[in-house]
Amino acid sequence: MIAVLKQGTTTAQTQHLVAWLKNMNLDVHISEGQHVTVLGLIGDTSRVDMDLLKSLDMVETVKRVSEPFKQANRKFHPKDTIIEIGDIRIGGGYFTIIAGPCSVESEEQIIEVAQAVKASGAHILRGGAFKPRTSPYAFQGMKGAGIELLLKARAATGLPIVTEIMNISTLDLFADVDIIQVGARNMQNFDLLKELGKTQKPILLKRGLANTLQELLMSAEYIMSEGNENIILCERGIRTFETYTRNTLDLSAVTALHELSHLPVVVDPSHATGKAKMVSPMACAATAAGADGIMIEVHNNPSCALCDGAQSLTPQQFDEVCHRVRKIREAIV
Ligand code: PEP
Ligand code: MN
Repeated sequence: MIAVLKQGTTTAQTQHLVAWLKNMNLDVHISEGQHVTVLGLIGDTSRVDMDLLKSLDMVETVKRVSEPFKQANRKFHPKDTIIEIGDIRIGGGYFTIIAGPCSVESEEQIIEVAQAVKASGAHILRGGAFKPRTSPYAFQGMKGAGIELLLKARAATGLPIVTEIMNISTLDLFADVDIIQVGARNMQNFDLLKELGKTQKPILLKRGLANTLQELLMSAEYIMSEGNENIILCERGIRTFETYTRNTLDLSAVTALHELSHLPVVVDPSHATGKAKMVSPMACAATAAGADGIMIEVHNNPSCALCDGAQSLTPQQFDEVCHRVRKIREAIV
């Protein structure tokens, strides 16, 4: 349930109302916009007398929120959420470029790629240290040593880093990581989500291979319900009957998620297509669709990559994508 307060409601009045609602065993989420304040009520709202609430002087409207996601819902929080990492902003009209290799492979590789993507305008460096691979015989990532190398690359370039967690038992290794990624395969690992909710780390939450947008938002809700509101949603393609591309990029997800939620939405055209040639056009399409950013796999030598070489761009190709994307941003904003 949400209660929209009238303009001019004082802080003291708001606090009084919040205390009264909390007394009914409800959690009250306050969202202060430029013009309105919205109180989001979580818990058993059947006890709330809607008519009584509506009749209060300071209350403009009261509505039930029918969707099962509450804190992730735009109705609860009309303003876009902006995630801050140092001087980088994600969401709310900013456009963020995340780039780097699928996996961290060596110090030389990650630093070379980090320097190259930074020079092209990337804001954040990606690189997998723990790799969820379909085959147990495939390269599983450098694990803790990979995170150490990402930290070195950050020190060398100043780029914040994002890397994937697979198991909560490794959380300590992520203490200095700027953004923790939850990969598609773990989108519904609810225990993992709940534990990440107890941290204040920004979380890049990727859509599951066969998950609906509502399920994605429910996963965000798991994290938020534990107190962590710093979530970036990522559309990375879903499984359909089409096999030409690795996945099918659901670009309409950008608009839908923006409508349903206040959380930033980035698009990963690399995993969505699985083909380096398709990354640039899909990155452009995602930008034109209003995504808050893109995440692209870049390797200094894609043909020798230990993971996802076929979809990885060379630094030169990535540079061209950045130019194209910037032109599209100029045209649409
Ligand atoms: C990744 O980004 O490295 C990755 C494994 O992606 P996804 O979880 O989307 O498959
Ligand atoms: Mn990959």
